[in-house]
Amino acid sequence: MKALRFTDWKTKPSLQEIDRPTPGPGEVLLKVAGAGACHSDVAVYEQFDETTVGPQLAPAYTLGHETAGWIEEVGEGVLGLTQGDAYLVYGPMGCGHCPACSRGQDTYCENAAQTPFLASGLGRDGGMAEYMTVPARNLVPLGDADPVAAAPLADAGLTPYHAIKLALPKLAGGGKTALVIGLGGLGQLAVQILKATTAATVIATDMKTDAMMLAESRGAVTVPAGDEQAARIRELTGGKGVDAVFDFVGLTPTIRLAQQVVAKQGRITVVGIAGGPVQWDFYSNPYEAELTNTYWGTMEELHELAALYRDGHLEVDVTTFGIDEALTAYEHLEKGTLLGRAVVVPHPASAEAGVASADALAAV
Ligand SMILES: [Zn+2]
Ligand SMILES: [Zn+2]
Repeated sequence: MKALRFTDWKTKPSLQEIDRPTPGPGEVLLKVAGAGACHSDVAVYEQFDETTVGPQLAPAYTLGHETAGWIEEVGEGVLGLTQGDAYLVYGPMGCGHCPACSRGQDTYCENAAQTPFLASGLGRDGGMAEYMTVPARNLVPLGDADPVAAAPLADAGLTPYHAIKLALPKLAGGGKTALVIGLGGLGQLAVQILKATTAATVIATDMKTDAMMLAESRGAVTVPAGDEQAARIRELTGGKGVDAVFDFVGLTPTIRLAQQVVAKQGRITVVGIAGGPVQWDFYSNPYEAELTNTYWGTMEELHELAALYRDGHLEVDVTTFGIDEALTAYEHLEKGTLLGRAVVVPHPASAEAGVASADALAAV
C-alpha cells in the first residue's frame, strides 16, 4: 500500500510502497477515509532533530495524526466493533494505565518518558496511508457522519475544544464575550464550538477578509487588524474587556493584543505554537487575568466533539487530495494557500459511497 513516510530529520516526507499492516491484539485495521495535514508535521520534518525533541518522535514512520476511517479488520480480543463502521482516531497514545491515561488524557501520560511514541502519526505509523492500525481504545464513533470532513476534528477540532472547555467557567452567565484570534482551520472550528456550547458573544479577527466573512456567516462579530483593533474589541464588550481570549497564532503581537483586551479575571489561552515571547509583570495584565497555553485534548472530549459533529453543529472546511498528491497537500499547507484543512483521501470511491449512503439515511 502507499504511505507518506517521514524517513529522516530535516527531510521532506516521501510517498513509499509498504506492506499493509496487520492488527495486533486489541487493535483494529482501519481503512483510511481521510487524514488531515497539520502544521506540527511541518515542524517535525523541517525543524526538529534528536537534540530538540525526545526519541518518541524519531523517524521513520507514516505521518498523519488526524485521521478517520472505516474498520476493515479487528485484532484478537476486540469486542463490539463492526467492519465498515466509521470512526475518528484519538491520536495521543500514552501508557494506558496511569491516572492521566485512565481519564483519557494520554497527552499528559505520567509514563511519557518510557512510551515508544507520542501519538498515531507522531512516532507511530499514522493515517497518511491506505490503511493503519489503531488500538480499539482510541476509536471514537462517527455514526453516519462524513468521515472525510471529520478527520481534522481529531486535532484541529479537539485542540480548540479542549482550550474552550477549560475556559468555560469564564463564559458562564450572561453578557460574556469570547475572542478568537486567527481564523484558519482551528479558529473557524473554535467559533463554531463557542457558538454551540456557550451563550457568549463571539468576536473574531484575522488578516484575511474571506476568513473573517466565513466566521461572520457562523455567527461571529469580526474586527479587522489595524490601529483601532484593541479599542474596537473593547467597545464590543461594553468596555469590560473579553472574558476568554483564544490566540490561534501565538506571535508577540497577537498575545499583546490579547493582553490589551482581556477582562479583569478573564483568561487568555495561547493555542498557536508560533512561540512569540511576551512581557508579564504585575501591571501588564488586568487583575487576576490568567495567561496560559494548551495542548491537544482528551479522549472524552473527542467523544463530545464527535457528538456535536454528528448532530450537525460543526462544518469542517476541507480541501481534499489523493494519496499520490499527499506531498502537494503539505506544500499548500506550508504556503498557506488553503482556507481550511488539507485532507488526504486514499480511497476516493469509498469516501463518496460513504457520503452518499449517509445522505440517503438522512433523507429517510
Ligand atoms: Zn496537529
Ligand atoms: Zn499513561
